[in-house]
Amino acid sequence: MDNLIYFDYAATTPVKQEAVNAVTDALRQFGNPSSRYAYARQAAQRVKEDREAVAGAFGCAPAELFFTSCGTESDNWALRRGAELNRRRGKHIVTTSLEHAAVLETCRDLERQGYEVTYLKPERAGRITADQLTAALRPDTVLVSMMLVNNETGVILPVAECVRAVKAADPAILFHCDGVQGFLKTPEPLVRLGADLVAVSGHKVGAPKGIGALYIKKGVRLRPLLAGGGQEEGLRSGTEATAQIAGFAAAVRATMADPDRLERTAAIKEYTLSKVKEAVPKLEIISQGDAPHICAVTLPGYKSEVVVRVLGDRGVCVSSGSACHRGRPSHVFAAMGLPKPWLDGALRLSFSPDSTREEADKLVSALKDAADSLFTTLS
Ligand code: PLP
Repeated sequence: MDNLIYFDYAATTPVKQEAVNAVTDALRQFGNPSSRYAYARQAAQRVKEDREAVAGAFGCAPAELFFTSCGTESDNWALRRGAELNRRRGKHIVTTSLEHAAVLETCRDLERQGYEVTYLKPERAGRITADQLTAALRPDTVLVSMMLVNNETGVILPVAECVRAVKAADPAILFHCDGVQGFLKTPEPLVRLGADLVAVSGHKVGAPKGIGALYIKKGVRLRPLLAGGGQEEGLRSGTEATAQIAGFAAAVRATMADPDRLERTAAIKEYTLSKVKEAVPKLEIISQGDAPHICAVTLPGYKSEVVVRVLGDRGVCVSSGSACHRGRPSHVFAAMGLPKPWLDGALRLSFSPDSTREEADKLVSALKDAADSLFTTLS
């Protein structure tokens, strides 16, 4: 679409040109990395170099990083196999009510299989503390799952502190982190969180859709989720998606070559929020977001789906909460205890380092026009 004003980078990102080029190259070099002849070995060599690039950005050894089809698969693998790793100890899992559906729905499925799950509730600003987490631990707790960056509020949860607290309480408890919105969006490499398992996804960082990875800390003996040909050191069967992997690595390399991207992203978010507050006084900020790329606002009493559609008709793309819950009110904002008019009007704005002030001004004017022309359920 021409004249696209895109502020939904937490839903997905444009595929970087470097990734497009790498994908095209890899599609032409069609060898199966598991075949034994020289032509296929080139494909295997390429996957090896791509794994080194993604692992390098993550901060881990290449042998600790396993390619999957998406963040959702990585979360499913970590939770389903992580929970059974300590089966003899018990069946209690701790997570937060802020998690993405990839974690929450997997937890619900595990509950149907006899696990008990404690969902930690955030306070009003969408935060969870290490004290809350340690208070929920029990002798039969086998797994903790906590996201790094919330995809709707941009709040950063204190994962590193929580890992330390959990391991101090009981080193046998496995710690999984959904790092999908944190990878390359926070200053520290994710390995420093100290978690045993971390899920990431390519399409949030300029790679094509359909590629993710799971970091498995050396020594953690996670069983595979898929049975098959034993690719990825026997842990993730399925012929390697060489083109997607190449796109992922190229996007990661290009991102890493842009060291001030986080500052630029934070600056354009700050600019947008200050302009929109000025132009639309009835707009309220739900969360400024600690991560540079996400914030949440609301037009209390408006219907966010209608606002999103009206903006969309002008080529302005924002999200009503997360793109993943299809019209239902956001479970994250509900867990934060927002009043109904705030829930109804909630919008997520998300940014890239390349978002411009001109685009931000168009977003602000579209929001102002929507607020002036649409009706609210209030008054
Ligand atoms: N976890 C979080 C926090 C996300 O924001 C998303 C996607 O929106 C996912 C997991 C799922 O990732 P994918 O779309 O690669 O399956």
